[in-house]
Amino acid sequence: MSSHRIAVIGGDGIGPEVVEAGVKVLEALAATEPDLAFEFERFDWGSDYYRRNGRMMPQDGLAQIEGVDAIYFGSVGDPDLPDDITLWGLRLAICQGFDQYANVRPTRLLPGLTGPLRPELGQQIDWVIVRENSEGEYAGVGGRAHRGLPIEVGMDVAVFTRAGIERIAQFACELAISRPRKLLTVVTKSNAQRHGMVFWDEVVREVVRDYPGLTVDWMLVDAMTQRMVNKPGSIDTVLATNLHADILSDLAAALGGSLGIGSTANINPSRSRPPMFEPIHGSAFDITGKGVANPLGAFWTASLMLDHLGEQAAARRLMAAIETVTDRGEYLSPDLGGSARTAEVTAAVIAALSGVNSTSSSRLAG
Ligand code: ATP
Repeated sequence: MSSHRIAVIGGDGIGPEVVEAGVKVLEALAATEPDLAFEFERFDWGSDYYRRNGRMMPQDGLAQIEGVDAIYFGSVGDPDLPDDITLWGLRLAICQGFDQYANVRPTRLLPGLTGPLRPELGQQIDWVIVRENSEGEYAGVGGRAHRGLPIEVGMDVAVFTRAGIERIAQFACELAISRPRKLLTVVTKSNAQRHGMVFWDEVVREVVRDYPGLTVDWMLVDAMTQRMVNKPGSIDTVLATNLHADILSDLAAALGGSLGIGSTANINPSRSRPPMFEPIHGSAFDITGKGVANPLGAFWTASLMLDHLGEQAAARRLMAAIETVTDRGEYLSPDLGGSARTAEVTAAVIAALSGVNSTSSSRLAG
């Protein structure tokens, strides 16, 4: 019996609602899989914790969760607190503290769902976006000076290092080559940004040379948005910088049906520190506490987590249950055009688990 230690950090807004729904689904899954078990440890970190303690998590927060097998995270962000406190104090503190430099975001249109694209195009979406997650435009390097004066200045410096580019490019190549199409699209903006982005191109080009079985093409980020909309079937695995991938993956989520479905893995591929799995949506304060948040993103996230933990059969089963529910269309939340509440979608996925086995979906979460 393998028991996985999971740190559960619901965070802010709808985060705790969808993550607790995910824990219920994982417990239901474990109850029917003889060799699967979890130990969930809850951490009440986030904006309310900040209001009580003046920090988003305890000073030794990272040490408290360093030994877990994975972190299951909800969302962070609060209308009354600046993002540089909430985001940097919790989510980015974990990503950077554990050097989770690979952010992986799968997107596909789940059965029964319709995205904004024409059906024949929408059904072609089957992408994984690999986002550089430790440096680039979000390195946190920069400064403000001359506050309040006419010469006031603010700067964010995009940081690209050879080591940082090499490791994310290697990760993206390995992932791309493990997928049937062996196709990698590298996103850049080296026509306008003449230093860091040109360096990015050079180093990625060196890395991809080691993968002769891979087809590699290059896109400027602006043109990439059009390709995602107009020719979704021409894309498989995408490698992009922190900022570019942040934006492209929101577009991907919208094309995939709803922000409420997308999921993300933040991974340190050396496995020396725990990975963190989260739905891509934010705190969604407009619907917090109403019981209508779509939990499917948190469930897909849980499936990604299972896959990473080596539980491929359980990951497939969970994915198959999610797909059964979307395909039937009976229990969809309002963001997907239905009227089901979070608890009803959760119950429907748990019920669907008993009708599927690990071969019901040929697909792993990614
Ligand atoms: P952030 O800056 O943290 O990404 P945001 O406000 O830009 O936050 P979200 O909080 O993700 O973005 O919400 C954007 C919109 O999408 C909101 O109107 C919200 O209601 C909707 N939304 C996001 N996630 C879900 C979900 N799981 N279920 C239903 N609606 C959602």
